Amino acid sequence: MKRWLLGCFFLVLSSMTCLDGQAAAITDLKSVAVGSDRYVSLKDVAAFYGLSLSVPPGRFVYLRSKWNILEFETQSRQCSINGVNVWLNAPVVSARGRWSITETDVRKVVDPILRPHAYLGARRYRTVVIDPGHGGLDRGAKGRAGVEEKRAVLDIAKSVRAILVNEGLRVYMTRDTDRFIELADRSYKATQWGADIFVSIHLNAATTSKPRGVETYVASLSGYPSTSSPAGSRTKAESFSANRFDHSSDLLGYYVQKALVQSTGADDRGLRRARFMVVKNSPCPAVLVEGGFLSNKYEEQKISTSAYRQSIARGIAKGVLDYVNTVKKAQVAGP
Ligand SMILES: [Zn+2]
Repeated sequence: MKRWLLGCFFLVLSSMTCLDGQAAAITDLKSVAVGSDRYVSLKDVAAFYGLSLSVPPGRFVYLRSKWNILEFETQSRQCSINGVNVWLNAPVVSARGRWSITETDVRKVVDPILRPHAYLGARRYRTVVIDPGHGGLDRGAKGRAGVEEKRAVLDIAKSVRAILVNEGLRVYMTRDTDRFIELADRSYKATQWGADIFVSIHLNAATTSKPRGVETYVASLSGYPSTSSPAGSRTKAESFSANRFDHSSDLLGYYVQKALVQSTGADDRGLRRARFMVVKNSPCPAVLVEGGFLSNKYEEQKISTSAYRQSIARGIAKGVLDYVNTVKKAQVAGP
């Protein structure tokens, strides 16, 4: 049943690609200036994708069809696309009396997720570089019960490698022992190996014990704040260039976050944006996974078990494979 539904989903998307010029048409959506940005009304976004718009009293705006559900929170950067929490680059605002999102978010976040085939046809997918964070002298985060990030992520990374190799992909790891590697060397290795997909694996720590859940990061877009920055901030650092594979990275991140939440049952803290060096400098679509908080007692306990680390690995691997399969389908369907 599930497969059938997915099949339908893809057929509908494919039929949309057949309309020549559809990819270009997204840029023709009417936009209005708000501050330094241009915004497109959610009403027009809904019409473009054939979704119905509803704005019930409260903080949310819904765009729905048989296959897609998009839920936007007003005055917020958080939205949900088909059940996955996604952080937009800028908040939903009221522009000329209509709830609107930036043109950038339509083109770089919403459109790739709803029409992945339009972006992935030219992508390669055979070589995956897995990057277990930290190592050697750099221990990374450490939980109160003694779980060390550098060791746990290496174990998770090896399991991801085993699954992906079994699926016929060529897999390299930036380290497969407990040793220190400079951040720049991780990106350099990915370039040397001809990486098509780059996945950095980390575990989180917060200053308080409360936060828990899983996060997947892609590079922040040039000119927009990271997820953790205040919404209005636009510092000089934010105009640094982003990863050149914005659309594909967003898709890879979306698939990984979705599968990771499903596999672990952990809280969905969303597809997020930050300027992590390994992601920003990657020679290919790249994501950084935070598989849970070692600063949270409950999550540290789970991560201390091999079974839970396996579920993190299965989630990451499934996300990568979902991305790979979507690339393959996009190539069969053609431009
Ligand atoms: Zn880390």
